[in-house]
Amino acid sequence: MSTSRGDMKILFSAPESDWADYRDLLPSALAHAGITAEVVREAAPDTVDYIVYAPNDDLRDFTPFTRTRAVLSLWAGVERIVGNATLTQPLTRMVDAGLERGMVEYVTGHVLRHHLGMDAHVVNPERDWTPVPPPLAADRPVTVLGLGALGRACATTLAGLGFPVTGWSRTPKRIEGLRCLSGEDGLTAALTGAEIIVALLPLTPETEGILDAARFALPAPRAALINPGRGALIDDAALLEALDAGRIGHATLDVFRTEPLPREHPYWAHPRVTVTPHVASATRPATAARVIAENIRRAEAGEPLLFEVDRVRGY
Ligand code: NDP
Repeated sequence: MSTSRGDMKILFSAPESDWADYRDLLPSALAHAGITAEVVREAAPDTVDYIVYAPNDDLRDFTPFTRTRAVLSLWAGVERIVGNATLTQPLTRMVDAGLERGMVEYVTGHVLRHHLGMDAHVVNPERDWTPVPPPLAADRPVTVLGLGALGRACATTLAGLGFPVTGWSRTPKRIEGLRCLSGEDGLTAALTGAEIIVALLPLTPETEGILDAARFALPAPRAALINPGRGALIDDAALLEALDAGRIGHATLDVFRTEPLPREHPYWAHPRVTVTPHVASATRPATAARVIAENIRRAEAGEPLLFEVDRVRGY
C-alpha cells in the first residue's frame, strides 16, 4: 500500500554518472517501500519534497526549497554540505552495507600489504634473497581512528585476523575484541607504539589536521599510515617530514585536500607513499537506493530518520 501522496517529487541532485546508476534502481526501491513518487533531475525548487544529494556544483543554495522535508546524502562524508547555512532541513548521511564491505576489503588489503611486507617481493629488480619472515598478526598492533560504521567494521575484521586492535572515537565505547579509547589522552595512548594506523574519521573542525607532527612522533618507528578517511585529517607537510625522517615508514593515501591530487604534488613521487584515487570504497547503488527509500518512508510516516547528521558535531 502506498504511504505517500501521489504527487511526491524527489530531486536527484548528483553528477550525471550517479544518475545512470540510480535512475531505475531508486524508483524501484521506492516502490518496494510503498512510496509513490517521481524522481527527477530538474524541478521548480518549491515543488521538491526530498533531495537525494551528492556533491555537485548545481545545488549550493537550498533557500528556495521551501517544501523539501529532508536532504539525503549518497555519500558517507558530508563535510561539503553540513556547514551550508541555507540548508535547514534534516540531513542524512549514507550508511550502506556495500560501502562498508568495500571499505573493509580496502583496509584489510592494505593492512596485510604492510604487515606481510609484500612490497619487497612484488618489486625486486635486484633479485634480492633476504628472508625476513613477518611477525604474526598477534605481534602487530593496529590502531583504527574512528569507530563509526566503517571504522568499527574494519577494526573488528582486523581483530578477527588476530591483530591486537585499538580503536579511538569521540565517545567511549565497548566493542568485543577491541581496546576502545576516546578523548585526547585516548588518542595519545592509541597512537603510541602503533605499527599500522588506519584513519577513518570524518572531517570536522575538530578532526582537521589531527594527524600532525606531534602525533606522528608517537607510533612505532617506521609505522604504516593508511588514510581512507579524508585528506585534511593530515598535516601534509608534517607527514612528508615524518616519512623522510623514517618515523612513518609508508603512507597509503586515498583522499587528499585537493582532488584529483595535483600532478606536481610531492606525494606522487615519494617512494614511500602509495596514492590511490579516492577508491577505498564507493556507495553501492543497489543497497544505497534501499537506504534512501527507507528514509523517505520513515519521513512520511513521521518516524525518526536513519543516520541523521548532527550539524553541531559536523558528522
Ligand atoms: P561515522 O559517522 O559512522 O563514524 C565516525 C567516527 O569518527 C565515530 O566513531 C566518531 O566517534 C568518530 N569521531 C568523529 N569526530 C571525532 C573526534 N573529534 N574525535 C574522535 N573521534 C571522532 O562515519 P563512517 O564510519 O560512516 O565514515 C567515516 C568517514 O570515512 C567518512 O566521514 C568519510 O570521510 C570517509 N569515507 C571515505 C570513503 C573513501 O572511499 N575514501 C568512502 C566512505 C567514507 P563517535 O562514535 O563517538 O561518534
